[in-house]
Amino acid sequence: MKYISTRGQAPTLSFEEAMLTGLARDGGLYLPESIPQMNTDDIRALGGVSYEEAAFRVMRPFIGDAFSDDEFHGIIARAYEGFGHAARAPLKQLASGHFLLELFHGPTLAFKDFAMQLIGQMFELSLRRSGNRVSIVGATSGDTGSAAIEAFRGLDAVDVFILYPHGRVSEVQRRQMTTPIEANVHALAIDGHFDDAQARVKDMFNDIAFRDGVRLAGVNSINWARVLAQVVYYFTSAVSLGAPDRKVSFTVPTGNFGDVFAGYIAKRMGLPIERLVVATNQNDILHRCLSTGEYRPDGVISSISPSMDIQVSSNFERALYYAYGQDGGAVAQVMDELKAGGFSINQGALESLRETFDSGRCGEEETRATIRQTWATSGELLCPHSAVGVHVAEAYRKEGVPMITLATAHPAKFPAAVEEASGIHPPLPERMADLYERDERMTRVANDLGQIETLIKERIAN
Ligand SMILES: *Cc1c(COP(=O)(O)O)cnc(C)c1O
Repeated sequence: MKYISTRGQAPTLSFEEAMLTGLARDGGLYLPESIPQMNTDDIRALGGVSYEEAAFRVMRPFIGDAFSDDEFHGIIARAYEGFGHAARAPLKQLASGHFLLELFHGPTLAFKDFAMQLIGQMFELSLRRSGNRVSIVGATSGDTGSAAIEAFRGLDAVDVFILYPHGRVSEVQRRQMTTPIEANVHALAIDGHFDDAQARVKDMFNDIAFRDGVRLAGVNSINWARVLAQVVYYFTSAVSLGAPDRKVSFTVPTGNFGDVFAGYIAKRMGLPIERLVVATNQNDILHRCLSTGEYRPDGVISSISPSMDIQVSSNFERALYYAYGQDGGAVAQVMDELKAGGFSINQGALESLRETFDSGRCGEEETRATIRQTWATSGELLCPHSAVGVHVAEAYRKEGVPMITLATAHPAKFPAAVEEASGIHPPLPERMADLYERDERMTRVANDLGQIETLIKERIAN
């Protein structure tokens, strides 16, 4: 299995190389050269197996010879053993025909653990084999960073640097990043928004001398291995509601478009998905774009669903690549236009996107009302991100097609917003109940590439 860049100008890589590299050298994102297919028998057979076995069968064709079957089984087993639910991704019913896929039972209480725990295990095995060291650098609106730190803390061959927007993540998110005591963990609070943090990380990857000098590796949602890990739960949840003999739809609370793009890959592999609904908060660039064809970022507005406070959705480039008929040149061109302020999607590409994707927006008051109502009608306490999904899903429900909304974080990760909306204080699960008592450690940094690069070089020299 070979991996190619969405912009068509970077070298073709193996799965292992694409995983270790993250962003392609032409600025594009890696995708498999062709998408492996699962037929209806393969999909039906997932019905009787564990989450881990389903993960093995769905991901195996993508990884080529990176790991032996035994190694890959071991990686998957270690990745998910720390989850607080035996089903890993349990499905709950909210209402007739509407289901909630709980993706928040991992160590940092958000769906990002599904990918990050897997990547941690894959990096460890791969680096142990090669004897190399890497510096993992990532930007986070809160959940990616805590999931990455949790996955890489204490590993020998890795330093992990996470840039998060100072003052713009929840206290639980911040504490999950600043309380690990391992020396290879570096939490950096940048003056700015998530998009600033993400832009500086992109700059570091485009600074080839720095990138090679510190052996930069990326685990942001642009990393193909993360998208791949997220494909699995689309299969397991759809199968438990009758796929492949019945179609299902999904609604996905969306920021960087990674999670919903994993659903698109599941569909292209053969899973009968009727619609993929992109749910945004008031930062609704994706909803506007799918409605009008115009992709024009404006300022980020802080919301009660901060992990979706994003204006530049990196993974959308992957969807554009398919929408533009796998034409890397066309993708490179619209991405150049984006640098200059924005772009218009051509009519054919927009129609292609609309064959699969719907979209909707949920404002702050609607988010709170959804938390309140869902608690009253089903006894499920939603985090604000999941509430955005549930609200938007309501508009797209259709008789005879189950709707699955992805619950992307545990309510206890955003206790203030949840309590304000519902009057209920969501307690942390037992296993992390002392989080508020642990000491914190972080470094403030300016939104300045040179200063951040210098800091990283100094830290790894020690
Ligand atoms: C990251 C995140 C999202 C957005 O996911 P994308 O893959 O970036 O679209 C939604 N909800 C929560 C809780 C998250 O952590």
